[in-house]
Parts: sequence; structure tokens; C-alpha cells
Amino acid sequence: TEQIEPDPSKKTLVILGTGWGSVSLLKNLDTENYNVIVVSPRNFFLFTPLLPSCTTGYIEHRSIMEPIRNILRHKKASVRFYEAEATKIDYQNKKIQVKDDSDVKGDSMETEIDFDMLVVGVGAENATFGIPGVREHSCFLKEVGDAQKIRKKIMDCVETALFKGQSEEEVKRLLHMVVVGGGPTGVEFAGELQDFFQEDLLKWVPQVKDHFRVTLVEALPNVLPSFSKQLIDYTESSFKEEHIDIRTKTMVKNVTDKTIEAQVTLPDGTKKTEIIPYGLLVWATGNAVRPVVKDLMAQIPAQKDERRGLKVNEYLVVKGTENIWAVGDCAIANYAPTAQVAAQEGAFLARLFNTMAKTDAMETELRELSERQATAKVDERNEILSLINERQKQLRRTKQVGPFQYSHQGSLAYIGAEKAVADVSWFSGNIASGGTMTYLFWKSAYLSMCFSSRNRVLVLMDWMKSRIFGRDVSRE
Ligand code: FAD
Ligand code: NAD
Repeated sequence: TEQIEPDPSKKTLVILGTGWGSVSLLKNLDTENYNVIVVSPRNFFLFTPLLPSCTTGYIEHRSIMEPIRNILRHKKASVRFYEAEATKIDYQNKKIQVKDDSDVKGDSMETEIDFDMLVVGVGAENATFGIPGVREHSCFLKEVGDAQKIRKKIMDCVETALFKGQSEEEVKRLLHMVVVGGGPTGVEFAGELQDFFQEDLLKWVPQVKDHFRVTLVEALPNVLPSFSKQLIDYTESSFKEEHIDIRTKTMVKNVTDKTIEAQVTLPDGTKKTEIIPYGLLVWATGNAVRPVVKDLMAQIPAQKDERRGLKVNEYLVVKGTENIWAVGDCAIANYAPTAQVAAQEGAFLARLFNTMAKTDAMETELRELSERQATAKVDERNEILSLINERQKQLRRTKQVGPFQYSHQGSLAYIGAEKAVADVSWFSGNIASGGTMTYLFWKSAYLSMCFSSRNRVLVLMDWMKSRIFGRDVSRE
């Protein structure tokens, strides 16, 4: 089916990315209405909410990945997928440049793809704010490779700390696990890491007991700024019980291979610089705009004043364009950059495109009917006229797609020691809860949200496996 030529009577819809936004669009799109082409350097969908659990081997990364080919094979009409990165979007000429970055080299590694309609769902990259040393020395937590790198590095730090002749100071440094950024990513990772220490490492390598420490560094006065005050307090006191050190009002300014340099604001408002040695450094300070998106923004005058991503209107059309839409973390629509928002935006676009295809077909039929009516005999004319009226009514009804409206289902985060926090919308009110019951809710909610039954079964098995045998600490 890959070789099937595009149908010239249909518009070509190019979708960039295979994340939350793009996959939700693909799942809900009637693909027979368009020549659909998907371009992404990642040939799978990743269920990011459970990625922090992969850093310690509590869950295996493959359990939260779903191959894009498996998603596409269930579509009615064939969709082309190119495993490649979009390196440039040429707005004027309606083309994108794509580059295949894979290790296996073919004749064609770079090419252009024409589009009539384009959906940008490329997500965001990691923010570093230009702080020196971050890219070279820290691990991010966004992709599967990041989680694998962290998993390997935790055990590297442990084994090196235990190497014969290591000085006590070096042991302390190597076993100091520092997380920068107190948003949900940093908090969830710190919780998972401390669990690993408490539940497995202590049993398997009791020598690390006195020196293994997890520290969470946050520039603001508190962690989880997007959660309610009650849950922030709950998280902070729970971290204290778990012996996770929270360093708020501490802004990292520089990173070297063994230390971070931070500016700490003291209670009297004065500032001092502190050097903190670390063995593992995980950097989770949020999102930054990808270069391909920045470049597109520079081509569109209406995007001139925006810095955070592609400004979209209430139909997710990139402002200043007519045929480009954006979803998820790369789109700025006044919602938080979350999976929940991206998935709803993707589903909305699918509804919009399905409707647009229907209205296009109706408009063509209407044009044909009007032409027929003009030349028809008198007795036929009335019949055609009533058909035209009927179709016009249908068209008006179909065209009534309202603007995108986000429905917030709540925020959930795991905080370690089998506790989670949740700000959940319930009818018209809000419920804030934290603790073990919330953890069970967190587990069942995320299990039910997994992409496929296959993912669900794998995650459940991983949870059981880790419970019974402990996490796998062997290094790959
Ligand atoms: P992504 O899901 O990041 O997908 C982007 C896609 O674009 C990827 O397939 C990527 O390979 C592809 N791509 C990148 N560059 C290019 C290019 N140049 N050309 C073509 N394709 C490209 N949100 C929640 O709501 N709840 C949670 O519990 C939650 N937990 C999270 C945990 C972690 C560890 C992280 C990192 C995020 C979490 N989030 C959560 C946030 C959520 O994952 C993001 O908001 C969501 O992934 C955004 O979806 P997206 O489709 O915009 O981007
Ligand atoms: P974030 O933007 O939510 O938090 C980053 C934090 O890093 C901020 O609190 C910021 O003050 C801090 N920071 C920035 N620079 C710093 C510095 N130099 N030194 C110290 N601290 C610094 O980032 P995130 O946690 O990666 O989340 C990104 C998005 O993904 C958010 O929208 C979030 O809601 C979503 N997400 C949700 C969940 C969940 O719902 N469970 C989990 C992960 C991510």
C-alpha cells in the first residue's frame, strides 16, 4: 500500500509528529478524505505520563510505546509514514523539507514534501535557558532514550561509588542525585528515584544507606506551581518524610561535570552562591520552542511577537496562515502544555477535517445541481430545486463546528512512597486529594489511559514483576 500514488482529487494533509496531539488526530481522522502523510523521527507513540517509572526499571520502556505502523494499519485508507525529521517548513511554497536521520543509509536521505494542509505537532524541546553546561552534563526526561540513560547512570553512580579506594567525599558526590526543576516531571522523577532507593537499592546494596540522597532544586518558593496550595504543602511534607531534600528559591546558574552552581535567596532576601556536587543530574525545567517551529514563526508576520510557540486561533489555525494548524506543546492557545490538552486538540482537528471534507463534497454536489438545474426541463427543475434546498440546509448544519473548547479533567502526579496528588474536576467543583487512595486512583487512571490493551497488560505485568522480584538493576 506504501506505493499507492496520491489521489489527485484529494488534498494532501501532512501531519508532523507522532506524539499526543498528532496521534489523537490520526486516531479520529477519516483518512479516506485526504492523502495523509505522517512525518516523525519517532516511529512510535510514547505514553509520557509513565516515563518517570522507566528511569528506575519499575516499568520497561517498551510497555509504554506503541508502534505507529500498528496504529496506521487500522485506518481505512492507507496513510504514508516517513521516519524523518522536518527540518524546514516553507510556508510560501507549501513544502516541507525532511531528513532521514537513521543509521541505515539509503539513496534518498533528504527530500521535499508538498502539502495542501499541514498540522504541526512536533512538541517542544527541553528548556535550558542557555545555562552553561546543562546540555553537556545533565540528563533530560522527555524521550525513551533519556529514561534509559538515567537508568544506566543511576547504577553507574552506585557501582563507581563502591569502587575500591573511593574517598568518602567522592562517595557522597557520586550518590547525590540532583533534580533541577520542581514541576511535575521533576517531582515525579524524584519520587520514583527515592522509591527505588527505599524498596530495592537498600536491600541489594545496603552500603549506600548513609550517602544516597535525592535533592530537588527549584527556583521558585515552592514546587508544583500549577497545583493547589493544599497539594503543594502535602507534597512538600511528604517529601520531607521520604527524606527527599527540597531546595526552593535556588536557581541553577552554571553546571560542570561534577557540580552545579546555584543562586540561593535567603529568608532576608539576600542572595548567595552555592556549589552543589552531584553524581547524577536530571534537568527538568520545562519546554522550549523547537528550531523548525521558530523558523516557521519567522516566516509569518502575525507570529512576530510570540516567543513561546505558534499562536493559534480558536480553530487551532496558526495565526497569519490559512492552511496550517498546530496542536500540543508547540501551539500557544492559552492552555498548559499537557498531554490532556494535546489529545483534545488532536481530536478536535480530526472532527474539523472530517467535517471540512464533508462540506467540500456537499459544495461540489451543490455546484453540479445548480448547473443541472439551469439546463433542466421545467418538470425536472422543481425536483432539483428542492434537492438544492435540502442540501443547503444540510451544509449549514455541517458547517456549524464550534471552536475548540478544552475540558479540564484535572491534574495528577505521583510523589513517591505510594502517594499521589490530584486536583480533579468533579461536576462543577474541584477536589484536591493526596495520599494512598489517590495513588490507587492515579494507577487505575493511567492504566485506563494507556494507548492499547497490549500496553495495559504490559504495564500491569511490569508493576507485578517489580513488586515480586524488585527492579532490575543490571546495566544494559
Ligand atoms: P509530543 O508528545 O512531545 O510529540 C512530539 C512529536 O513530534 C514526537 O513524535 C517527536 O518525535 C516529533 N517531532 C519532533 N521534532 C520533529 C520534527 N522536526 N519533525 C517531525 N516530527 C518531530 N501531561 C499530562 O497531561 N499528564 C501527565 O501525566 C504528563 N506526564 C508527563 C511526564 C513526562 C516525563 C513528560 C516529559 C511530559 C509529561 N506530560 C504530561 C506532558 C505531555 O507529555 C506533553 O504535553 C505532550 O507530550 C505534548 O504532546 P505533543 O503531541 O505536543 O508533543
Ligand atoms: P514545568 O515548566 O512545569 O516546571 C519547571 C520548573 O523548573 C519550574 O517550576 C521552574 O521554576 C523551574 N526552573 C526553571 N529554571 C530553573 C533553574 N535554573 N533552576 C531551578 N529551577 C528552575 O516543567 P515540567 O515539569 O517538565 O512540565 C512540563 C509540562 O508537562 C507542564 O505543563 C506539566 O504540567 C506537564 N507535565 C504534567 C505531568 C503530570 O500531570 N503528572 C507530569 C510531567 C509533566
